[in-house]
Amino acid sequence: MANEELILEAMKEVLITGQEMARRGLVAGTSGNCSVRVPETDLVVITPTSLEYELMLHEDICVIGMSGEQVKGRHKPSIEINMHLAIYEARPEVGGIVHTHQTMGTAVAVAGKAIPPILEEQVFSLLGAVDLAEYGAPGSAELARNTVEALGFKNACLLAHHGVVAVGQKIRNALHNAEIVERAASIYIMSNILGGPKVVPFMAAEYEGKDL
Ligand SMILES: [Zn+2]
Repeated sequence: MANEELILEAMKEVLITGQEMARRGLVAGTSGNCSVRVPETDLVVITPTSLEYELMLHEDICVIGMSGEQVKGRHKPSIEINMHLAIYEARPEVGGIVHTHQTMGTAVAVAGKAIPPILEEQVFSLLGAVDLAEYGAPGSAELARNTVEALGFKNACLLAHHGVVAVGQKIRNALHNAEIVERAASIYIMSNILGGPKVVPFMAAEYEGKDL
């Protein structure tokens, strides 16, 4: 497939995923963003800043080079473009990223906590606990750095006082991972009403005696 077709395909994936994020209630209004790494290029396509997902069109999606220069698009890219680029740089296998303001995941982040590995599907898909990235102002290099650090080799992390980042080989995997974070966060919060969560048996040793 020629580069141009790959770019168009990636733009379509970003548009569909952005609208799906809004439809599923993971973001509201113009908050959050998502991106795709264009295969066989050093390009990333990402949602534009300050545009509602419901009104977004294919041609509104921005094409950005890995060093941050805008290649195509009539709008500026999302303010979190640096965070997306930093993740792609650190994780060559990641092909798609979603950043949401989902309620339950953000509730855990606001409490200054991580989600311990409590569900099987969480451990299999996200690869363990969902750690908390230290606070960084929106769009800052600090936030990008803290996110890469909290993510490590895993597929999701929480952003202090802010939201959630999920990644995947494809953007549809990243969206699915964001849903798993929401489910794990909800169950984590609920289980505290019933005496507190327990971690999955095969990771219990690692968490013995730790405050969850
Ligand atoms: Zn955000």
